[in-house]
Amino acid sequence: MVKPPPLTSRRDLLLWTKRTLFSLGIKPKKKLSQSFVVEPQLIIEIMRYIQHYKPLTILEIGAGLGTLTYHIASLCKKVIAIEIDGRLAFFVKKLTRDLGNVEVITADILEIDDVFFNNVIVGNIPYHITSDIILRISKSKCPLAIITLQREFAERLVAKASEHRYGKITIITDYLFEKKICSVYPPIAFYPTPSVYSALITMKRIRDYDDIAKSLEKLLLCTFTERNKLAYKVVNKCTNIDISGELPWLREKRVDQLTLNEFLEILHIMLKIRK
Ligand code: SAH
Repeated sequence: MVKPPPLTSRRDLLLWTKRTLFSLGIKPKKKLSQSFVVEPQLIIEIMRYIQHYKPLTILEIGAGLGTLTYHIASLCKKVIAIEIDGRLAFFVKKLTRDLGNVEVITADILEIDDVFFNNVIVGNIPYHITSDIILRISKSKCPLAIITLQREFAERLVAKASEHRYGKITIITDYLFEKKICSVYPPIAFYPTPSVYSALITMKRIRDYDDIAKSLEKLLLCTFTERNKLAYKVVNKCTNIDISGELPWLREKRVDQLTLNEFLEILHIMLKIRK
């Protein structure tokens, strides 16, 4: 019988985590971002969001020791838990076997089929591939993501125009999602303790990744290579058309001062001119 992860206190969960790792003979691998949640409040907060949105199926990214997996399983019909490390996946299977609604898949989250991403996504995700995961979620049909990532990255997602963390990923996700930083957790919320703070965020889809999103992404890729330059010059260079006549305000702004709506206006004019 495997003892379930306790939510009684941080101390209890830390002890459970250390004992489980010891009994499995597993030394966490830094290169796989293996830092396991030991703060029950973080799990309880995620559970609250799940209870609010009531998803049928959840895709969990990076199950680790199954701490989150175990507790969210009671809140939905099915959890599909993806874990790249076979030793951990094997343990999570044992831990959740009796629950009857958890499917554990040993795989790289970036390699799995698109259909899995149609579900609500939950997870304390592996930090070294945060960008790739956010982009994959963006391009999928995932209606809602409730995920923990490093605080700096979360701040990039919600940054406002002109702020130094504002960039391509901010704008493309502004187009696709309503985003919110729910809470920030200190390094000791995880074991082994990482060097960074973490943030729990929610991303609720407001648009599909459509043709406009594709064109927007292309335009952002080109223009943000010169984020501090005057926008009209950079846009001219990237699109080969002069649109500053139609959008006089473009002459006064740098690339990183443009909001999502301003980029959408640029795209709109570009399409009109090209027709
Ligand atoms: N969610 C767990 C584990 C967090 S650590 C918890 O909160 O305790 C991140 C987990 O992601 C680790 O278990 C790591 O092995 C796994 N992981 C790392 N890269 C991955 C990848 N490409 N695909 C799937 N899982 C991955």
